Amino acid sequence: MNLYPVNAGNIKLDGGAMFGVVPKTLWNRTNPADANNMIDIATRCLLIEDGKRLILIDNGMGSKQSDKFYGYYHPWGDFSLDTSLKTYGFHHDDITDVFMTHLHFDHCGGSIQWNKDKTGYEPAFKNAHFWSNKDHWEWATKPNRRERASFLKENIMPMEESGQLKFTSLPKDNLLNNFELGFDIFYANGHTDKQMIPLINYKGKTIAFMADLLPTAGHLPLPYVMGYDTRPLLTLDEKEKFLNLAAEQNFYLFLEHDAHNEIITVQKTEKGVRLKDVYTTQDIFN
Ligand SMILES: [Zn+2]
Repeated sequence: MNLYPVNAGNIKLDGGAMFGVVPKTLWNRTNPADANNMIDIATRCLLIEDGKRLILIDNGMGSKQSDKFYGYYHPWGDFSLDTSLKTYGFHHDDITDVFMTHLHFDHCGGSIQWNKDKTGYEPAFKNAHFWSNKDHWEWATKPNRRERASFLKENIMPMEESGQLKFTSLPKDNLLNNFELGFDIFYANGHTDKQMIPLINYKGKTIAFMADLLPTAGHLPLPYVMGYDTRPLLTLDEKEKFLNLAAEQNFYLFLEHDAHNEIITVQKTEKGVRLKDVYTTQDIFN
């Protein structure tokens, strides 16, 4: 198995929104804000090459929205999904499976693109299955008023119309073992309903793709929960459970949204679970 980080573009988001009830004097130490209170955010996806399969986990915001839309997110740096895939010698058509942790636009926007004459939308990965789960699909296609702006119809409906959509099974508790793409999945319900956190066994290490369960290393203290989360108290419980497990079993936490820390490990301290070491993807994936 080979793993590759795929940066689908860097953006900026409001620091206050990213840290919920936590005062800026605290979060600004780990995630310094610019003059507009915006903090650096990555959309770092993960590519898994495993036998005949080429699996892409999440795919950023895509390129089909208006300049005005992207303007709200202040893109920076030279990364894009296309150029990142090309770096490793891969093309969109090589992807066999697109696994989406959830259907917020900054995680699945790259799944769908404009068609040739810009009259409609089509899958950006024509040979891939798109993976979600039944509960989250229901949640995203009949959105509540809080999350409606994050679930864009143009990102979601074309997956179903293409016939390429597939659902994972759903476990009774939080963990699905031996999912058919070759990794385990932890289901978390605090950020949104049935967000999926892949746990990948790579050369004896467990790599956890943290998505919005732990967006940046600055979010390690339990109450540091994003303002976007729909069930913040549940996020607190899920983070506690997951981070304790991660400390006990020395998981390598792959941070999708942290522009400056790619992979971290954590340890138990008297204050709770805290940062242990920071790694680059190169340190771990080579
Ligand atoms: Zn999200």
